[in-house]
Formats: sequence, structure tokens, C-alpha cells
Amino acid sequence: MKSYRIREEMNGISEPPGKTWFWELEAAVVDADRCIQCGTCVAACPSNSIGIDAETDLPELVKMCTGCSLCWDFCPRGGLRYEALWPPSTPPLGRAEDATVVRTDPSDTYWKITGGPPAEGLGAVIEQFALRAVSRPEGAQDGGVVSAVLIAALAAGEIDGALVTRPSDDPDEPWKGVAHLATTTAEISEAAGSYYNQTMALAGLDLSGYDLPPRPRIAVVGTPCEIQGIRAMQSRRWSTGVHRVDAVVLTIALLCTKSFDYRGLMLQLLATDRAVDLARVSKVDVIKGRMIVEYRDGEVAVDEPIKNFHGAALKGCDECADFVGRGADLSVGSVGSMDGWSSVLVRTERGKKALDSARGRLDFRDLDDPEALAKLDRLDKRIAFDSLKRAFDADAPLFIDYADHAALYAESDRRPVLTER
Ligand SMILES: Cc1cc2nc3c(=O)[nH]c(=O)nc-3n(C[C@H](O)[C@H](O)[C@H](O)COP(=O)(O)OP(=O)(O)OC[C@H]3O[C@@H](n4cnc5c(N)ncnc54)[C@H](O)[C@@H]3O)c2cc1C
Ligand code: SF4
Ligand code: SF4
Repeated sequence: MKSYRIREEMNGISEPPGKTWFWELEAAVVDADRCIQCGTCVAACPSNSIGIDAETDLPELVKMCTGCSLCWDFCPRGGLRYEALWPPSTPPLGRAEDATVVRTDPSDTYWKITGGPPAEGLGAVIEQFALRAVSRPEGAQDGGVVSAVLIAALAAGEIDGALVTRPSDDPDEPWKGVAHLATTTAEISEAAGSYYNQTMALAGLDLSGYDLPPRPRIAVVGTPCEIQGIRAMQSRRWSTGVHRVDAVVLTIALLCTKSFDYRGLMLQLLATDRAVDLARVSKVDVIKGRMIVEYRDGEVAVDEPIKNFHGAALKGCDECADFVGRGADLSVGSVGSMDGWSSVLVRTERGKKALDSARGRLDFRDLDDPEALAKLDRLDKRIAFDSLKRAFDADAPLFIDYADHAALYAESDRRPVLTER
């Protein structure tokens, strides 16, 4: 479909004020190579006008855009501006003391989006552990904790399904993760492990093809940007399309410093350039600054510095400052705990309840190295800050904020200006 930047180009009719069209999102995010394939725009569109381009795995317009602005408003690389949603009682940005303002009002949208009151460092954390599933699913990435928590929630009747990522059925797409709603224990177990590509996950909230109760309760496992999208959409009422944002009752964020373009990483850099036989691969891991690919027989196919693969990383990830998934009920990753264990941050009462349900299925210990999490978080923020600063210096048309970015910039007229923390 031909894209238009403004309505006049399309049919000569002048544009009503206050509207933002899909093609503006397309120009500022998708065409600018900043899209992080979270699927928020697809889920947000009330007229179901946004689909996924089968060639590029990027959002595309499949029906008429009504200019409702919602795809732009909720896009983590577009108009998602947490500070604009904060209540008037919040002091204006740009003052040094903003970084330490404590917001305690639960109706504060910041509170809604982050799932808890603002906190420095790793965000709101009620409890933190290193955990390992007693019965670890085959293929689990670390301690198998995410799968164990989902299986327990399903068994306890707390959820009807979980939006997870499983391998594509397409033989031309080996080791490509695709979003999938798992409704059985077997499906959750089969989806264990990490896929280093984004899946447009929130497009998977179209539950119409599933046999679910009329008021389904769904858990979502996602990268932090996907959880940001859900929190933002849940914090504002609007009439949704087929996507059941309202059904999400539990969110689990996977700690994340970057994700990759599937074709660039798997097909080009691994299969073509390094002759990796993807059919034999049992695990792909990005850990301690290295990319490690293992075959099922134990042979290590690749063990190289991650910087050798940066060419296939999503450019929009450079702008991301949310390594630890501040918006989630639970955040889970490998950094900070021993091999074979997962680091878990419990952020909300919902997260605590889900973990309590899974207690009998988990081994507990203290986090081995909490400072490792904080260190990587600081590095992630620094990269994001530098990336934003470069964009502003180049006068790029960016309007970006993050839940934890308040102190990074102050507003000046209509243009964001960065301030050092
Ligand atoms: C792109 C990416 C980058 C990551 N980067 C880091 C990092 O820098 N540091 C760190 O400590 N941890 C990182 N992780 C998290 C880590 O790899 C593990 O997922 C986490 O420790 C949970 O392990 P587990 O054994 O408890 O989960 P498991 O029981 O193995 O379950 C993992 C769950 O994640 C789902 N999943 C897999 N891939 C994706 C995906 N692409 N998008 C959404 N859901 C998915 C699976 O379907 C499954 O439900 C990253 C994960 C991903 C997907
Ligand atoms: S970043 Fe997410 S919301 Fe924004 S255009 Fe890409 S898929 Fe849509
Ligand atoms: S680095 Fe950030 S933007 Fe990129 S996939 Fe991870 S959470 Fe999303």
C-alpha cells in the first residue's frame, strides 16, 4: 500500500487538527529504522488497520487509517511520553530535584505504567531472588523459572493462557521465535528458551481464534519494551479493536539489552557467514558480553564477542533504557545469578502472588550478584542517553521518553532538550 505523510497528499482534503496518522508513525519510526517490533501499534489500533508485513516483520497499514493517533501515542519509539501523562501535581521536568520526587498516588500514571511507585536504580522491587525450577523444562534458557511460574498459574486457574514465543513452523525460518498463545502446560514447556528476535508480540493479543472464557485472563512474557506498551495501553481507556489488552493480568519481562533482526543474525551472520547448522542448534545465548551458540551434542558452534553481531541488532534498541523491565510484575534474566539459575525481581503484588503459587516448583537462593544487574542497567541507560543525544544533536524528529528517563531531559518549548543526570 502506498504510504502518505499527510492527508492532503492522499485526497486533497485538508487535515482536521489534532490527528496523527499511521504514516507519521511509519515515517518517524518504521522507515527511520527505529521500530523495535513490539506490536503495540497493532494492538492499539481500534479499527484493526495495522498488520504485519510478512517480508519485513514490521507494521504495515492493511486498512484505512482513521487518524485516531493511538498507534503513535502508545508506540515506545513514538509518542509514548510518560511525563505527559503524569498528573498536574507532578513538578515540571528539568529541575534537578525531579529525580528524587517520590510519587505515591496510585492514580498517577507513572505508577500505573511502572506497576509501582517510582524508584531509583532497578525500579520498584518488593523481593529479589535467584531461582531454579525443580523440574526444569527441556530447552529452558536459565533456571526455567518463567515456564515454571506460568505452568503454576495455569494449574492454579489464575490464568487461561500465556503469550509466549515458540519456534516458527516454517522450515525456511529455523530458530525464529514467533508469538504464540499457550493454553496448556505442554505448550508452555515447549516454548521454554530464548529467541533473539522480536516477534511483534502484542499483535498476539488477538484472542479471537482461541477457545477461551468470555473474560479471559492472560499472562504475557515479553521484552521490557513490550511490557511498556501493555502498561501504557492499560493505563488509558479507549475502545480497542480485536486485541484484548484488558485480558492481561500478569506480565513477565525478560531482562534485555538488545534484540536482533532475525534474518540478519540467524540467516546471515550465523548460518551464512559462520556456517552454523541451525537445524542442530540447541541454545543461543548472549551472556557476559559474548554470543554463544551450542549444538545438541554439546559442541560449541560459536563463542565470540557480542560486538561482532552488532550489525544485526535492532537500531531502536540503542534508545532503550529499560534493561530491567520496570513495568512488569516480574522481571527475569540470567545476569546476577549462577549458571542454570534465573535472577528474579518481584515488582508488584500480582507478581508476588504468581511467585507464591509457584513456590513448590522452585528452588530459592539469594541473588548472587545484584550489583551486576545495577551495573548493566547503568550501562544500558548510558547507551540510551548517548543515542538520544546524538539524535537530538542531529535535529532528528524524535519525541521520546521512558518511565525512568525523567531526569534525562527537560522540555523546552516544543522540543525536548537533554539534561545530564
Ligand atoms: C531478546 C532477549 C534478550 C535478552 N537479554 C538478556 C540480557 O541481556 N541479560 C539477561 O540477564 N537476560 C536476558 N534475556 C533473558 C534470558 O535470556 C532468559 O529469557 C531469562 O533468564 C529467563 O530464563 P528462564 O530459564 O527462567 O525462562 P524459560 O523458562 O526458558 O522461559 C523463557 C520464556 O521467554 C519466552 N521468550 C523467548 N524468547 C522470547 C522473545 N524474543 N520475546 C518474548 N518472549 C520470549 C519463552 O517463550 C518462554 O516463555 C534476554 C532474553 C531475550 C528474549
Ligand atoms: S516500535 Fe512497536 S509500536 Fe512502534 S512502530 Fe514498531 S511495532 Fe509499532
Ligand atoms: S533492548 Fe529494549 S527496545 Fe530492544 S528489545 Fe530489549 S527491551 Fe525492547
